[in-house]
Amino acid sequence: MKKHNFGAGPCILPQQALDATVAAIKDFNGIGLSVLEISHRSKDWEAVMDECRALWKELLNIPDGYNVLFLSGGASMQFMQVPYNILNKKAAYLDTGVWASKAIKEAKLFGEVQIVASGKDNNYSSIPKGYTIPNDVDYFHITTNNTIYGSEIKEDIDSPVNLVADMSSDIMTRPVDVSKYALIYGGAQKNVGPAGVTFIIVRDDILGKVERPLPSMMDYRNHIKEGSMYNTPPVVSIYIMTETLKWLKSIGGVAEMHKRDNAKAELLYAEIDRNKMFRGTVTKEDRSIMNVCFVMEEAYKEKEADFMEFAKTRGMVGLKGHRLVGGFRASIYNALPIESVQALVDCMKEFEKLNT
Ligand SMILES: *Cc1c(COP(=O)(O)O)cnc(C)c1O
Repeated sequence: MKKHNFGAGPCILPQQALDATVAAIKDFNGIGLSVLEISHRSKDWEAVMDECRALWKELLNIPDGYNVLFLSGGASMQFMQVPYNILNKKAAYLDTGVWASKAIKEAKLFGEVQIVASGKDNNYSSIPKGYTIPNDVDYFHITTNNTIYGSEIKEDIDSPVNLVADMSSDIMTRPVDVSKYALIYGGAQKNVGPAGVTFIIVRDDILGKVERPLPSMMDYRNHIKEGSMYNTPPVVSIYIMTETLKWLKSIGGVAEMHKRDNAKAELLYAEIDRNKMFRGTVTKEDRSIMNVCFVMEEAYKEKEADFMEFAKTRGMVGLKGHRLVGGFRASIYNALPIESVQALVDCMKEFEKLNT
């Protein structure tokens, strides 16, 4: 039985992307070789890189003056590579959870970091508001979707300084006005592909302004010059990402995806709010449409393990909440069909009937 995969990442991928990749691993473009066995300088491979870049530009409507890079190292490496390239003296960060905190820790190695606001005091159950972005910083960094806590910044904010965003877990889930950002990055493995490739969308004019010397592999400009092939690229990860974006385009692009993602999230949150055994952990207005975090109401706390087991027998996997939040986390990424969300909702209803 195919499972209902609510895993937080790596996560569910479109079946057609997996099938196309299996075929390319066996015989790439009918050339009698695997995509794993050919030079990344070959025409056939360069066509994949070009298509992938073109799909990014088209799907997110990326304006001129920006480059899209596909590198290795994950979003975690960007926590360091971003300040390496663009933090001269001081940067501002919004602390919205674990990933934001990790980004802050790395940035401190390169300069002064001002934390403009933090959700730490309420265990990151909402997005801080009413803060002021300082004018005297090189950039302001946000994490748009907090994968662990299930909160999300759902609109493009206005910033008086260069805006940098970690969009690992909500890229391609809503239309984004890229022109409001100087740099957007993320690991592919939440919504656009498997682990092994990291996307970076960077505006050219912010580069080359730091005084420190940059190691070649750290310098975005080298990767721009070489079309993300300064060294051997992770070909399978990029191939699956390309196929995933082709699937996204085929269903109607990011605007259509946003509608479907919202519908899935509304369905699940409505049941969490209705069902007397469960409650959400995030302030309603800040609820993520990707990572739905919920716990059992106090009166039913001892049923938590039972519910997990109950869901498991119905083919649901990946529902365990992060240890910092507890309870459950249903990650309902792009490739997860609404039928899986409906199956979870049915499961919650049934469990309520049996236990109340
Ligand atoms: C998963 C995740 C990361 C870490 O990504 P890696 O590619 O594993 O380094 C960083 N930020 C956010 C928001 C994430 O969801």
